[in-house]
Amino acid sequence: MSEIVLKGLVLRSADYKESSKMLTVLTDALGKISVSARGATRLKSRISAACQPLVFSEMTLSETKERYYLKEASTLETFSGLTADLKNYALGCYFLELLDASCPETVEEPEALTLGLNALWLLSEGKKEPQLVKSAFELRLMTLLGYQPETEQCAACGKAKPDVPALDLRGGALYCRDCALKALAERPMTLDEPSLLAIRHIVSAPRKSVFSFRISDSGLRRLSDVAEGYVKEQLERSFRTLDYYKSL
Ligand SMILES: [Zn+2]
Repeated sequence: MSEIVLKGLVLRSADYKESSKMLTVLTDALGKISVSARGATRLKSRISAACQPLVFSEMTLSETKERYYLKEASTLETFSGLTADLKNYALGCYFLELLDASCPETVEEPEALTLGLNALWLLSEGKKEPQLVKSAFELRLMTLLGYQPETEQCAACGKAKPDVPALDLRGGALYCRDCALKALAERPMTLDEPSLLAIRHIVSAPRKSVFSFRISDSGLRRLSDVAEGYVKEQLERSFRTLDYYKSL
């Protein structure tokens, strides 16, 4: 039985057999993996704190042919600011569900992990408008995982500054609204200039400045609708945690 030390964010935690938990963890070294945490629900368990969703820890795992087991853990970050506000907490849970839905099993995605941790930290510390953090997280995550929208120019006529820019959420391409009406069967989502500039920033900015941009309130509303719609269309699913967040 070999041992591995790595860092991981718990995306999901389910009761498993007597007194154990089965965790879904996004790790820096192995990507998304399932980890069995034996005895995690026992009163004296030393690993229980690290077995909650939203907790980021350094973990020592033992590996058998079938699976990973959590042997030891020391908590690095719990994003405790999220527990003070139900809405932010719900949004954090959506971030976890989105990471879980989009990161493939056992494929290293260190950038997706870093992005997720940064988004949760900004939300927890109240450093940025939650809608801005959510939109940037959604679009950058899609970009990292191979679903980058093409927003340099109109996909039909090549104009870099479409008169009325619009994004085809399914095809992930930018159009002038008039070009889109001719080229597409479905209606694209209309952008305004602030939301288009923000999207271009989010998909292409250096890692450290993904969340560093300013946008008007109306631009942010537009950006938020586009980012959310884009995720749903690209991953072809809805999210229970997002529905809950929006019901609050
Ligand atoms: Zn055009």
